[in-house]
Amino acid sequence: MQKINCLRCSTPMKHLLNQRIQLGQANWLFHNHVWDNIIAGALPVMILVCPKCRKLEFFLLNEKRREKHE
Ligand SMILES: [Zn+2]
Repeated sequence: MQKINCLRCSTPMKHLLNQRIQLGQANWLFHNHVWDNIIAGALPVMILVCPKCRKLEFFLLNEKRREKHE
């Protein structure tokens, strides 16, 4: 994985976890209709955290290309 620096303080961000966010519970976060076409049900994301300023950054995981049986 490439290094991603914090947008605020340029500290290298650390991988926190991968998470499936249930859309029904996350509408406050992803209330934009842009997401509607991407997922049905859950949103797989990778979450990074900046150890210095604790900013969180979300990346959408592209699970449709990755087969479940690896
Ligand atoms: Zn930071």
